[in-house]
Order: sequence, then structure tokens, then C-alpha cells
Amino acid sequence: MQTDSYRHKGMRRGLIKVLQEKGIRDPRVLAAVEAVPRHFFFEKAFLEQAYQDKAFPIGEGQTISQPYTVAFQTELMQLKPTDRVLEIGTGSGYQCAVLLQLTQQVYTIEYNRPLYEKAVMFFKKYGLKPHTFHGDGSEGLPAHAPYDKIIVTAGAPGVPRSLVRQLTLGGSLIIPVGNEKSQKMMRITRVEEGEFTREEFHSFKFVPLLGKSGWDSTL
Ligand code: SAM
Repeated sequence: MQTDSYRHKGMRRGLIKVLQEKGIRDPRVLAAVEAVPRHFFFEKAFLEQAYQDKAFPIGEGQTISQPYTVAFQTELMQLKPTDRVLEIGTGSGYQCAVLLQLTQQVYTIEYNRPLYEKAVMFFKKYGLKPHTFHGDGSEGLPAHAPYDKIIVTAGAPGVPRSLVRQLTLGGSLIIPVGNEKSQKMMRITRVEEGEFTREEFHSFKFVPLLGKSGWDSTL
């Protein structure tokens, strides 16, 4: 079990300043990022990297997302404490830990088995209680739908229809969409029964979303 020292807290405050300079404004999102010790998600040898605004390898060819990306996606979600959230791509569990600062109802699904098992152990160790699932989340998690918010933390080739169908009325899906080199962040909101609005934000670079509605249709 790692500890959260004054030095780490100071480094986190430095990171919050960087996020503010890059345009993150929502005080609840900034407080959520400040509350989560990102160094807990790193091996001891790499602690210095934990509070740089950078993605970092977590094994299995995957990454823990850049803090700015986590804050940006979380800000777009405009979470309420009563929201039911689905996260697709648990990865290290860091984004999930940030979401849990803002709502207690987080469902998270990871496709890669070793990463899924590592994240489950991590959540247990630190007393975090998301609902965890292993499998292909590219078509959501229909058994527990609908969700007020869905966040996809891997780059998708398009907006999977099955995901928008799992939104509540007024709910939104935050998803990076594009090719393998660059993806535009999108927010799709279900405004009426068959009516959706689509907003497009700037570009990011994510690892690919795999699975049936992702880049690997052979699953
Ligand atoms: N949210 C993560 C974090 O905070 O560490 C970032 C995860 S990483 C950028 C993207 C993750 O999506 C990887 O762990 C990858 O295995 C997972 N992934 C890719 N395709 C998936 C799918 N179809 N269903 C569920 N997870 C998937």
C-alpha cells in the first residue's frame, strides 16, 4: 500500500495549476483530480512521472490516460451525484477513481483480462467500489443500462449505435472518434426519444477501442 505524502499532495496541486492553464474550469472536476493520488497507479520506480501531464504505459500495450484528457472528458460529462455512469476501458482504474469522487454509481468494463484483474485488485486494496466487468464494452453493457453518462476511454472508428441506445433521456456519451492516429472528442446527447445532438471538440490520441464496434471486428 502506497502512502500519500505532503510532497505528493504538493505535486498534485502543481498538476491542477497545469490543468487550469490548459482550460479545465469546473471546480468539482479539479477537486476530484486533486483528491486522487495518481502515483498509486504507478510502480514505485516511476513515481516522478505520476504528476506530469502525460499518458504512461500500464502494460499490455495500454496506457493510463493523460490527466488533461481525464479532466476534459470528466468535465464534458457534467456529472451529478445521482448519475449512473458506464466507463468503457477501465485500464489502470485512474479515470474510474476520478469518476467515483463525483458519483458512487460507476460501472466499468475492461476488455484486457490481465488489466481487468489488476484493476479489480487495485480497487479492493484502496476501498473503491465501482461495478467491474470483464469483456468487450464496445457495445456497452446492456444488462445494466440505461446510463446517465457513458465515457469511452479508447479511440473508436465511429459512434456505436448500441451505446447511444443505452443512454437515459438527457444522458450523454463522451467518445473519441477518428482514425488510429487522431480522434476528435464527441459528446452525443439524447435530447428526445429518437433525437440526439452531436458536439465536436478538439483532437486527442487514444489507444484503439477493440471489439465488435471497435477496430477489431474479429472478436
Ligand atoms: N481509463 C483508463 C485509465 O484511466 O487508466 C485508460 C485506459 S486506456 C487509454 C484504454 C483501455 O481501453 C485499455 O485498457 C484497453 O484495454 C481498453 N479497451 C479497448 N477496447 C475495449 C473494449 N472493447 N471494451 C473494454 N475495454 C476496452
